[in-house]
Amino acid sequence: MNFVYFKGSFVPLKEAKISILTHAFNYGTGVFEGIKGYYNQKQDQLYIFRVEEHLERIKKNCRIIKIDLDKPTAGLKELVVELVRKNEFKTDIYIRPLAYKSSEKVGVKLPDEHDFCIFAVPVSHYFNPDKPIKACLSSWRRIEDNAIPGRGKITGAYVNSALAGQEARDNGFDEAIFMNEDGHVSEGAAMNLFLVRNGMLHTPSLSQNILEGITRDAVMEIASEELGIGTMERAIDRTELYTADEVFFCGTLAEIVSVGSIDHRLVGSGKKGKITSEIMKFFYKVVNGEIDKYRKWLTPVY
Ligand code: PMP
Repeated sequence: MNFVYFKGSFVPLKEAKISILTHAFNYGTGVFEGIKGYYNQKQDQLYIFRVEEHLERIKKNCRIIKIDLDKPTAGLKELVVELVRKNEFKTDIYIRPLAYKSSEKVGVKLPDEHDFCIFAVPVSHYFNPDKPIKACLSSWRRIEDNAIPGRGKITGAYVNSALAGQEARDNGFDEAIFMNEDGHVSEGAAMNLFLVRNGMLHTPSLSQNILEGITRDAVMEIASEELGIGTMERAIDRTELYTADEVFFCGTLAEIVSVGSIDHRLVGSGKKGKITSEIMKFFYKVVNGEIDKYRKWLTPVY
């Protein structure tokens, strides 16, 4: 049975129901997180990746839509760990904490009433890590910070991502790349983006309407600490994508995936690049608890 955390207790998923009047259901007024847990079969251990950072992020983002998620991060973390234990998962999992406006009154505003829930589901790789993917520039623009802040991980904002992601798939691509209204590169539908140029990483800066990705941060730390490769965070032009040596996406669900072509133009040779491969290899060791130095990012559940 899948247990979830709902209205202050752990209940079976089928008992966790909300009314159709719920504000967040009507207006997209929720803030969520996506956290990955990696099951290491050899160690019979499940490691949750950077859970504190994700919980800090949701607490901060809640302020944007005036939800007071007052439980301390440590308390939220206990709930996440207990939920995973209760479900006795022995596979990779995706954990979804969600804070949402629970008012059952009609009206477009930010009412005080809110609730908080968590569920977790088994997952496998979102993309095949060995196969570079086909990306395209989306005809949809990335939402601006002054419209619906992308950094906020606000549920309603994901219509923007769904439009771009679906358009890409309908047109035979694997993933979309958003540009901002000013034509600079922003990010994927639900993942951050890196370019390799002349042995260095380049990624859109925080003011490019991106989500401040936790995997993005991990990539920059691994590249710098382990490979001696620096990252430039800056505004990136569209055609830099076409001329880059390597391009990859990163995110909690996407993990790290190489981009083999963009708009039908091969990226480099079209194969997984050397630097992308090295970062990926190290990343998978880290998340599976194989590197002591990076246990700081892992919470063992069992
Ligand atoms: N951008 C968007 C829009 C996302 O939804 C995600 C997934 N959370 C990311 C980037 C990657 O962020 P993270 O590495 O924190 O999962």
